[in-house]
Amino acid sequence: MEKTKTKHAYWIHIRIPSDQFISGYYYSRQCTCSNCGCECNVEKEICPECGAIMDQKPEAKK
Ligand SMILES: [Zn+2]
Repeated sequence: MEKTKTKHAYWIHIRIPSDQFISGYYYSRQCTCSNCGCECNVEKEICPECGAIMDQKPEAKK
């Protein structure tokens, strides 16, 4: 059996502008896989679509 390359990705949360938050926005509960782009209602450890392990961190902006 061939070992499939393990993919690593992370969930992208959409930022929604809102005046009701001090920050001026909030993050949608909906999240998108950074690898295949599928949308999920909850963050899962492994993407149900592409099987990527969601242990990466989005690039932090400073
Ligand atoms: Zn995916």
